[in-house]
Amino acid sequence: MHRSQVTTDVELHGAAAITATGVSRAPLPVRAARIGDAPAARARRFELRDHLVFPGLINAHDHLHLNAVPPLRAGAPFPDSYAWIEAFQAHFERPEVAAALRVPKATRLRHGGLKNLLAGATCVAHHDPWHPALDDADFPVALLRDFGWSYALGWPQYGPPVRESFAATPPDRPWLIHLAEGTDEAAQAELAQLDRLGCLQPNSVLIHGVGMREADVGRVIAVGAAVVWCPRSNLTLLGRTLDPRRLHAAGRLALGTDSRLSGARDLLDELRGVVDRHPLDPRQLLGLVTTAAARILRLPSRGRLAPGARADLVIVEDRGGDEARSLVGIDRSRIRAVVRDGMPRIADPDFAEWFELAGVEAVPVLLDGRPKLLDKALADPAAIALEPGLERAEGSTKPAHEVALRGECC
Ligand SMILES: [Zn+2]
Repeated sequence: MHRSQVTTDVELHGAAAITATGVSRAPLPVRAARIGDAPAARARRFELRDHLVFPGLINAHDHLHLNAVPPLRAGAPFPDSYAWIEAFQAHFERPEVAAALRVPKATRLRHGGLKNLLAGATCVAHHDPWHPALDDADFPVALLRDFGWSYALGWPQYGPPVRESFAATPPDRPWLIHLAEGTDEAAQAELAQLDRLGCLQPNSVLIHGVGMREADVGRVIAVGAAVVWCPRSNLTLLGRTLDPRRLHAAGRLALGTDSRLSGARDLLDELRGVVDRHPLDPRQLLGLVTTAAARILRLPSRGRLAPGARADLVIVEDRGGDEARSLVGIDRSRIRAVVRDGMPRIADPDFAEWFELAGVEAVPVLLDGRPKLLDKALADPAAIALEPGLERAEGSTKPAHEVALRGECC
């Protein structure tokens, strides 16, 4: 395709867009990396009948550089995360762990970004010191920026000091800390401790909160703070997790994976793991990774499909019934396309025309055995080598999908 024909102006027809207010079957215009309010005059039109379009998902907690480090298998359940951290110190000596940590941090961060993108998470809250690689133009996902953080009340040797960090964070920006990640008295005491420090405010975002008691949950809601629920990580480390219902009902709950050191493979895996075992239905779970996360992390242009919002999209086949079930419960290889900033990044091979139209060079890959096209800028061999289930495919990939995506100029 001639360079002058490259455009990110497209119009998606026939699909149902899942928005905060319900389901829209109106054509969805994408213009210059945003959801448009009207199609551009010469937008390319794509037919997506029997498909659903969701906003790009928000993973509210990860440590991107740790996703290829072998997990600690022994010792669980731990009374709290500090006991886990102590046990982990000896784990660092293991040759496979030392080897994983010798991979350059920039590569490990890119791998963590790729892990998220492959599962439809287009924006991530990375809970660690900033690194220049996170500012690369072709980093796989968007990141929460302009926020404050500390690591944990009981582990002050890592990360910014609590009071100073909180004081330096503007009240309209989120401030994140691991809190009450445990079931013992130390974990149970942490919310009150944070409150006494003056660091429990409406912009406080508490990661885990497993040790919080009913009164603590009430206090979080009363203050207008929020909790990031990481159920798989909690069950792995602590053998239990929190009851999400009150925090969800108050709109003060988001969902995070944590890293694969303790957490689920990815955000879809996390959703699938909780959908049948916890009292929130698929639509409520979808809200945790879209609208609620955007509200709590103060990301007004994310988590929704409305004019002006980022054109970060997850496109799946409509499996019938409750629309949220077509996403909540599937695994990553079943996603038809992940679009970020209006451009396809990984998709089934019949999306080739959209890649070409957007000027995104794509390479064939296999994702969990299924052929896909991946944005070449994201196909860093070193990062791919860290991701189980992802490999470069030789030659061209044949569309595995029966209904090829058809583009036509309107
Ligand atoms: Zn964490």
